[in-house]
Amino acid sequence: MSGDLLVKDVRPMGGSVTDVRVRDGRIEALGQRLEAPGDAATVVEGRGELLLPGFVDAHAHLDKTLWGLPWRPHSGGPTLAELIRNERRHRRELPPVAQRAGNLLAAYVAAGVTHIRSHVDVDPEAGLASIEGVLEARERFRDRVTVEIVAFPQSGMLVEPGTRELLEAAVEAGAECVGGLDPAGVDGDPVEHLDAIFGIAARHGAGVDIHLHDCGELGAWEVRLIVERTRALGLAGRVMISHAFCLSIVADGVFDELARDLAEQRIAVATAASPRGEPLPLRRLRDAGVAVCLGQDGIRDLWSPYGTGDMLERAMLLAWRSSFRRDEDVELALETATIGGARALGLEGYGLDVGCHADLVVLPGEGLAEAVVSRPPRSLVVKRGRIVAGRRASTVA
Ligand SMILES: [Zn+2]
Repeated sequence: MSGDLLVKDVRPMGGSVTDVRVRDGRIEALGQRLEAPGDAATVVEGRGELLLPGFVDAHAHLDKTLWGLPWRPHSGGPTLAELIRNERRHRRELPPVAQRAGNLLAAYVAAGVTHIRSHVDVDPEAGLASIEGVLEARERFRDRVTVEIVAFPQSGMLVEPGTRELLEAAVEAGAECVGGLDPAGVDGDPVEHLDAIFGIAARHGAGVDIHLHDCGELGAWEVRLIVERTRALGLAGRVMISHAFCLSIVADGVFDELARDLAEQRIAVATAASPRGEPLPLRRLRDAGVAVCLGQDGIRDLWSPYGTGDMLERAMLLAWRSSFRRDEDVELALETATIGGARALGLEGYGLDVGCHADLVVLPGEGLAEAVVSRPPRSLVVKRGRIVAGRRASTVA
């Protein structure tokens, strides 16, 4: 039946060769010369290739993509405000969100991404149209990749009256998280901004995910406000700070204080390996116990022409941005695209242990660091025990 599978001769995380037996979409056994889970089960030869858990893109913008459309030269100005205006000027010319998001989801699946957190714009002009478009696309792809949605006030919340109510309506319509955007830099009132989005999250049992580009002491102060509200509302483990550029440049003593509080409240940090400023101090955050995850941010959209849906590519960019050369460092970048993402998003049953969901990627390569650098085509992609992509997918019955 669907969800039953035997993958033979693969090397989990580059370790020794084993078979993996999957029943009802979960890993049932790992070991040598395993029997198939039934006469009708699919059997795939792994040929000694690497086995990884499915990639997690923890910070995406599915509604913005131009994927699948003719190439469009970038037309935005350099500042955040100009990029926001440029998008609002041109987005009406684009095909429906559901179609464009679907195009990109197909690319994600082919690249072995099995879970995505996507921010999706809400504003008084477009209302919930983008949320509805992404909900439609995620339903169409539900057997191939799981998608969670953050209702995102891209144009600001306090400066765009009506957006606060739309964020609440988006959560009622199916978004799992409430988003925020530079409570100081865009909205000019961090306390009111954060009180509003944390209030919606607390009322609806939703998570919080805040784009925080604000730098230096201002950004650090906003992190403290986020910690304070997470603690007061009992939202530990449900809050994410995306980008968090301030963590890269604050003084050591401030960094240690913030990292300790983030770890205590299980507030995760998402990076997109942005080319801006200093890179996020990955190892210091990890050593402090802070979950760090990786996202591709916008892919080929009105903000940026870059991105492909491949998290190995983004892991390489993160390693490159971080000046990583040694295998153990490059592997840390890969960790943010896999286990780090699952930890940050609180994904149940993620990994390669017995009992985990069979969300798997098989790909050629000697080891993990080499896979990040080489980014080989995926041989097999499995979602909940079903083969959904890969060069070898067409050769198995
Ligand atoms: Zn973003």
